[in-house]
Amino acid sequence: MKPLEERIADQVRNIPRSGIRDFFELVQGRDDVISLGVGEPDFSAPWHIREAAIYSLEKGQTSYTSNLGLLSLRESIAKYVEKQFHVSYDPASEVLVTVGVSEALDLVCRALLNPGDEVIYHEPCYVSYSPSIALAYGKPVAIQTRVEDEFVLKAEDIAEKITDRTRLLFLNFPTNPTGAVEPVDELQKIADLAIEHDLIVISDEIYSELLYGEDSGMKPGTHVSIASLPGMQERTVLLHGFSKAFAMTGFRLGYACAPPVLTEAMMKIHQYSMLCAPMMSQVAAIEALENGAGEVEKMRRAYARRRNLMLKRFEEMGVPCFAPGGAFYMFPDIRKFGLTSQEFAMRLLEEEDVAVVPGDAFGEAGQGCVRACYATSYEQLEIALDKIESFVKRL
Ligand code: PLP
Repeated sequence: MKPLEERIADQVRNIPRSGIRDFFELVQGRDDVISLGVGEPDFSAPWHIREAAIYSLEKGQTSYTSNLGLLSLRESIAKYVEKQFHVSYDPASEVLVTVGVSEALDLVCRALLNPGDEVIYHEPCYVSYSPSIALAYGKPVAIQTRVEDEFVLKAEDIAEKITDRTRLLFLNFPTNPTGAVEPVDELQKIADLAIEHDLIVISDEIYSELLYGEDSGMKPGTHVSIASLPGMQERTVLLHGFSKAFAMTGFRLGYACAPPVLTEAMMKIHQYSMLCAPMMSQVAAIEALENGAGEVEKMRRAYARRRNLMLKRFEEMGVPCFAPGGAFYMFPDIRKFGLTSQEFAMRLLEEEDVAVVPGDAFGEAGQGCVRACYATSYEQLEIALDKIESFVKRL
């Protein structure tokens, strides 16, 4: 018999396992470790949202839904997106409910790429972009953003990478893992470039509610979606979901908003692979969109307080750290200690029982930084920061 390893499809064998997962296998089962690792809210989903899911089950709503998702949910999504992003979508033909933004990323790649098509994305970035592109036989083309430029993605750097095979441009603001928010004037230049080169933009806006504006981030910032810029809605697939702002990771629910032809193409794959997203999650999501704003703001303020604590403490310890405009990650620059990101993270774990993710897990551009997620209680963060301080003092 041929070895089973040789039966694995080339494009699967060739993609690496997620650097985050590898690192966190080391932490599994260790209760003594404070984890600033996995990018997941420490809050449970707000009670009224959980209650909506429970009632849905009690009422026996346990069937499939339309492939696109419940029409009532798509209507709530269209209303929410119009208010939040100032773009209006037709709930009947331009909104697809997916199993998390993760599924939507996969669908968009499979629906829009032919083998060898190039996709430009910015690093450091969410770990699934490059594999999702490669699994759809596309060619991932990374642009490095730098801490020195506050991780601003420059239109001129994108322009340099565009070839006659470039089809898609992936954007993610606020960015995982840096928390960077793109300045609007640069976003406009990127939009101009997308129009000039006829690119479709995939805009992952999953952290768009978690923005830290004036008053040291205690007031919410304003999110600008590239889809809302002139001429962009017709060439943008806007991805959003419930995992982060609503603390609903386990509900596995997201959505894609796009022109009807693109929505239909993604729906074709979704209907054969997923059929539909779970109904109880969809019912809970309606409750989240209709009545969840107050709880989202409470969580955002808690994150803002933690962000400020981390910024202050890193500054006091002399660890340079970019002030993130959004999401719930700090991405301190540890180059001055002469260790690689991996060495820093491993030693911090071994010597102080604090887990952070090596920055290069998010692409080469993350080398020299580590990601510390502050979706952990204020009290735990204080302990973790004391431990980080003891560690860096010894270096
Ligand atoms: N996009 C980004 C930028 C993320 O950080 C994550 C999760 O960490 C996802 C997408 C996946 O989210 P979901 O839980 O909706 O699949």
